[in-house]
Amino acid sequence: MKYEAVIGLEIHVQLKTKSKMFSSAPYEYGKSPNTLTDAVVLGLPGTLPVLNYEAIEKCAQLGLMLGCSIAKVCKWDRKNYFYPDSPKNYQLTQNEEPLCLGGSVEIEMPGSSRNIEGEHRWVQLNRIHLEEDPGKLTHTAFDSLIDFNRAGVPLAEIVTEPDLFSSEEAVAFLNALRNLIIYAGISDCDMEKGQMRCDANVSLRLKGSDALGTRTEMKNLNSISNVKSAIEYEIKRQAKVLDSGESVVQETRRWDATKNASYSLRSKEEAHDYRYFPDPDLLPVEMDRDRVEVLKEELPERPFDRQRRYQKEFSLPYTITSVLCANRELSDFFESTLGLFDAPKAIANYITNDLLRELSAHSKEGDSALNITDTKMKPELLAELVEVVESGLISKQIAKEVFTEMFLNGKSPKSIIEEKGLSQSNDSGEIEALCLEAIASNPKAVSQFLDGNTKAINALKGPVMKATKGKANPAMLDELLQKLIQKGQ
Ligand code: ADP
Ligand code: MG
Repeated sequence: MKYEAVIGLEIHVQLKTKSKMFSSAPYEYGKSPNTLTDAVVLGLPGTLPVLNYEAIEKCAQLGLMLGCSIAKVCKWDRKNYFYPDSPKNYQLTQNEEPLCLGGSVEIEMPGSSRNIEGEHRWVQLNRIHLEEDPGKLTHTAFDSLIDFNRAGVPLAEIVTEPDLFSSEEAVAFLNALRNLIIYAGISDCDMEKGQMRCDANVSLRLKGSDALGTRTEMKNLNSISNVKSAIEYEIKRQAKVLDSGESVVQETRRWDATKNASYSLRSKEEAHDYRYFPDPDLLPVEMDRDRVEVLKEELPERPFDRQRRYQKEFSLPYTITSVLCANRELSDFFESTLGLFDAPKAIANYITNDLLRELSAHSKEGDSALNITDTKMKPELLAELVEVVESGLISKQIAKEVFTEMFLNGKSPKSIIEEKGLSQSNDSGEIEALCLEAIASNPKAVSQFLDGNTKAINALKGPVMKATKGKANPAMLDELLQKLIQKGQ
């Protein structure tokens, strides 16, 4: 292709606050329609907005997490439009003086395989402003239904610079952004629940050119895979338009996921004139600089920073750190366990293998994945398990069985081992007898071993492990077999 795609994203994120942006009404996804409203949310005459300072702080925290500078003053503007999802006929937003300016997000492009680290790059942001979510319209065959529960929920709108150059980069950006926001506890970013929504702006230019082409905007893409498909569709469509000698029309387009195509909603000429003006009911907000510093100090380590630290401090491989740090709960669990028993590699392995396996095995189909906090797993339990394996009380094989039991019942590994009689057998008399039996019944393996094929000894270990139900101490078994074979010579 002779064109380069240029992409800018606008991402709306619902902030996790106790109440709405300008009223004390609460919000929770999935409640009966129109039960989470009040006079302010419904825009009844005579009501006045009262600013929720928690939303300001959460948005400032979001900005700090993304490296923005926090404005000294931000203020509220009315964005006027007439539509049933907004009973006041205007939306309160920050047009002229947003709370957060600039910033950037570190992204990682996928490597050539899942186990190989990809390239990292910083994507520039333009701003983050606050606004109120409108209500939700549902169109049926005969009616349009309106639910005002969502109306007034604090929304942060993150606007990137036109600094993404492929659909893959857009996906990497959204994943990284989502992770940063979840790490900071600002939103759960569940796209199915509308907690994170994305509009994508796409234009093409000739490769090597610095000028920006005419862009189109795809609205309300509600999953990362929809963002990817919509961008790819639009790149192909615009390339065709340009190839035929025509020019791209600046317009807003609607993505239809079921048809895998987008349609023109309105062109620039039909664009609304929102007649922005400063809201006379709300004062500008002056940010307390000391408080901004406190918010900054409270921020968690960023996921990629944490990943690099784990690689350096604990010599953990990328395969492990990329899984561990992609989820704050997992990496927090890792650190808590590590605080109790210092064995980073073993702990990381149990978390990324056994724990993830059990979590996915016990997640109900269709539900989002189970969280550790929904289970009986505790750092104390894992620390004890790693300790008993390292001390030789049980083998790694038996530890898997103990892990499953501990995950399900929350019982301590020591009590499970005791109850089930799982501790490793160090009874050399019993093991010796079994070794002699194995040697007698497999002369072929014995002679192969004597001929220098050291792996042949494994064929003799199998029957002993089977007879002891995996409890034979592996080191002792190896030593005994070698000794007995040499002796039999
Ligand atoms: P508007 O005022 O119409 O909302 P903005 O300048 O705020 O436009 O830009 C909105 C989004 O569109 C931003 O994410 C920006 O990066 C992106 N954008 C602007 N121009 C282009 C372009 N030519 N190609 C791709 N994206 C663009
Ligand atoms: Mg804009």
